Amino acid sequence: MKENTPIQFLIIHCTATPKSLEIGAYEIDKMHRFERGFDRIGYHYVIKRDGIIEKGREEKEIGAHAYGYNKGSLGICLVGGLSDLNEPENNFTPNQFESLYRLLKQLKENTPDAEILGHRDLPNVSKQCPCFDVIPWWSTQKALNGFGLIEDT
Ligand SMILES: [Zn+2]
Repeated sequence: MKENTPIQFLIIHCTATPKSLEIGAYEIDKMHRFERGFDRIGYHYVIKRDGIIEKGREEKEIGAHAYGYNKGSLGICLVGGLSDLNEPENNFTPNQFESLYRLLKQLKENTPDAEILGHRDLPNVSKQCPCFDVIPWWSTQKALNGFGLIEDT
């Protein structure tokens, strides 16, 4: 197995499903096997609507989530991102954003130089995934944390 190192990117995705759909790693794993032909889920982490973080692939395994960027990255997927009319929509829950922040903070401890971005921030990506602007969101979170507004537990 080729090692998935060094980790240079932490790439945020969404399932592009309506907010009423309460799926998780199990359902995504099935979709990736049967619809995409992957041997298992392509992401390393999934954050469900209730904020529960589920594990997908092992971090040392190369994922299948960002064309041309799979080696040296980790893929984190939030469940949601589509409106009821199937339009891209930032409809993630406060629990999901909280969990995303905590997960990224934890991952950054091992990979301090890794860049955090959304799938659509990579070059030549035409889809809207993950349906919100990750880079300014992360800057804001870091700033808030710097002011002690988010407690470390
Ligand atoms: Zn994506």
